[in-house]
Amino acid sequence: MTESIVLFAGCFVFLAIGSFTCVVIDRLPVSLDEPDEYGDVYGSRPWSEVFGGDSRCSACKAHIAWYDNVPVASFVMLGGRCRSCGASIAVYHPLVELAAPVAFVLALWSMGVTWLLLPVLWFIAVALAIAVVDFRILIVPTKIVWPATAVLVILGVISAGLTGEWSRLLSAVIAMLALAGPLFLLWFALPAGMGFGDVRLSVMVGLLVGFYSGENLGHAAFLGLVALLGASVIGVLYGLLGLAVSGKGTKIPFGPALVTSGFACALLAPQILDPWL
Ligand SMILES: [Zn+2]
Repeated sequence: MTESIVLFAGCFVFLAIGSFTCVVIDRLPVSLDEPDEYGDVYGSRPWSEVFGGDSRCSACKAHIAWYDNVPVASFVMLGGRCRSCGASIAVYHPLVELAAPVAFVLALWSMGVTWLLLPVLWFIAVALAIAVVDFRILIVPTKIVWPATAVLVILGVISAGLTGEWSRLLSAVIAMLALAGPLFLLWFALPAGMGFGDVRLSVMVGLLVGFYSGENLGHAAFLGLVALLGASVIGVLYGLLGLAVSGKGTKIPFGPALVTSGFACALLAPQILDPWL
């Protein structure tokens, strides 16, 4: 009974979160007139501008009425076009709006109704925003990653306190070192090969993975390495796909690979670790 109420309410909440995530993806990055000192062509808007103001069409700036802003449904009703100017609405809108509740259902299905869900539910919302921004403009937004990591740590402490499983916090640190350590060394040795944004992101993903590895520190280190391996495999596959499609090597966003691998490792931790238990 409790489970179905949580499932039902959570799907609605996560549809709304997905819609809100689209707002962040739309408004946070701002293209610069010329590259900044790091060679980046994108900056980020202040949070007040991201969260303030109403929804507008990115092409004609027309105000978008609430009935044209219903997650997924409006995109379908409008045929993916702005009501005022007919410009096509980026297809990631309905995809992100659907991905949020789907990820929620997967997390609930994997872990059941427990306080341990808190960190992963937060991760779903922020990881979606980070992955799509990185996918679109090849930048892992620091402005999301650091505050999101701080909130993840707070939720981890609350969740460990409510369940009494305090040693999960130490596991989180161990897996973070196992995942972010090698990436940091790689960045240090080959700064041109990878952005530091990916190292920052791997800190957050590592903490998440370790928290769900349980209370055994060996398992935590192992799961951190599995997450790293998973992200590398996804990144290489994506690179090969890009090579096959465009015929040349391009810059690969590693953020989506990192968060996908981290999310999968968090949910499948018991299955991944089982043969070693
Ligand atoms: Zn328009």
